[in-house]
Amino acid sequence: MMLCNSASGPNPISLKFVTGSALKKPDWLKIRFESNSNSYHIANLGKTYNLHSVCQSAHCPNRSECWSGGTASFMIMGEECTRGCRFCAVKTNLAPKPLDPSEPENLATAIATLNLRYAVVTSVARDDLIDEGSNHFASCIRALKRKQPSLLVEVLVPDFKAKRNLLQNIIDARPDVISHNLETVERLTPFVRDLRAKYRQSLEVLRLYLELSGGKIITKSGLMVGLGESESEVHQTMVDLRDVGVEILTVGQYLQPTSTARHLPVKEYVHPDQFKKYEKLGYDLGFKYVASGPFVRSSYKAAEPFIQKILESRI
Ligand code: SF4
Repeated sequence: MMLCNSASGPNPISLKFVTGSALKKPDWLKIRFESNSNSYHIANLGKTYNLHSVCQSAHCPNRSECWSGGTASFMIMGEECTRGCRFCAVKTNLAPKPLDPSEPENLATAIATLNLRYAVVTSVARDDLIDEGSNHFASCIRALKRKQPSLLVEVLVPDFKAKRNLLQNIIDARPDVISHNLETVERLTPFVRDLRAKYRQSLEVLRLYLELSGGKIITKSGLMVGLGESESEVHQTMVDLRDVGVEILTVGQYLQPTSTARHLPVKEYVHPDQFKKYEKLGYDLGFKYVASGPFVRSSYKAAEPFIQKILESRI
C-alpha cells in the first residue's frame, strides 16, 4: 500500500502550487490563542482518557473561542491517518496503531464531564482496517448516547470509500448529524486531498447517508477557500452539495498548517466580503444553515447552527 501523495510519478501539486512566494497574512486573520481553565480541562481530559482533541491536532485557530465555551471536537481511531491530504496537520502513517477497544467508553466518560449538549466526533481515515474503522466509530456513537441519552452527536466521518455497508454501520448507531467534508472544488480535489478521496465519491457518500437514513439524517459539509478556486467553482460545488441533500454548509479560509513541502501554500486570503457573498449564495441555494467566514471550520461552534436553526423545528 502506498500513500497517494508519495505515489510514483510526478506529483501535480509540486508543479502547480509550490511556486509563488508566501502571502502576507491580512489583519483580519490575526488572532491569538488564549488558554483558560476550560482549555486546560479539555487538554487534560485528552491525556487522562488517551483521547485526541482535533482542535489541537489540526492546529485550529478557534481553540480559544470554542474551548472557553465548553465545545470541543474529539478525534478517534488514533492520531495518525492512513491518508495524506495536503491541507491537513494530522500525521500520516500507513500502519497506525491498532484501535483502542476502551476508546468508546473513555470518550463517553470524557465528554460527560464537559457537560455538553452537543458533541462533535471525528476520526482519521483507517484504510488499513477491513471495515475502515466504521464499527469502532459506531461503537463510539453508541457509547455517547448510552452515557448521555440527551446528548446531540455530530460525526465528521471519513468517506469509507462510499461502501454502503460501512456507511450503514454509522447510520445504525443513530448520530444526529453526519458531516463529511468535500473540502474543495472538483478541479482542485486531486491536488488538495489524498487521491483516494474523490470529489464524486464524497458526494455519493453524502447522498447515501441520506438515503440509508430514509431521508431523516441531517447532512453537513465543509469547504476551504483560498486554494486557487474561482467563485463560479465554489457556486457549482454548493449546487452539487444541495443536489445530494446537504443542509448545513461551512466555508472557511485555508491556512497552511506548516511550511513543509507536504502542505499547500495559501493561494489567496479571501476577503471577509467574499465570505459574506458565499453565505448569501448558500442560503439562496437552499442550505438551512451556512457558516462562512475566515475562521470558520467544519466543527466551529457546531452546536449553534444545529440547535438554533434546525433542531427545535425538527426533533
Ligand atoms: S483523511 Fe482527514 S485526517 Fe486524514 S489526512 Fe485527510 S483530512 Fe487529514
